[in-house]
Amino acid sequence: MAREMTDQIRSIAEVLAVMSSPNAVSRILSEHSVDSTGHCRGCRYPTVAAPVWPCRLWEIADETRRNQELRAVK
Ligand SMILES: [Zn+2]
Repeated sequence: MAREMTDQIRSIAEVLAVMSSPNAVSRILSEHSVDSTGHCRGCRYPTVAAPVWPCRLWEIADETRRNQELRAVK
């Protein structure tokens, strides 16, 4: 992974890997996909501009999925 991941995202993802189902994680990943302008589809709110993708939530879900896959292998 080229982007540097913060310790914060990593520790949140470790908790979520235990507490959330793989289905919930994959739903977040599909909802928070990139749109044609390079922003996140899942982070659209009336009052706030959509963040540039990948958003923080997608990064957390992506790391959570990686954690869950590691657990599944063991
Ligand atoms: Zn998002």
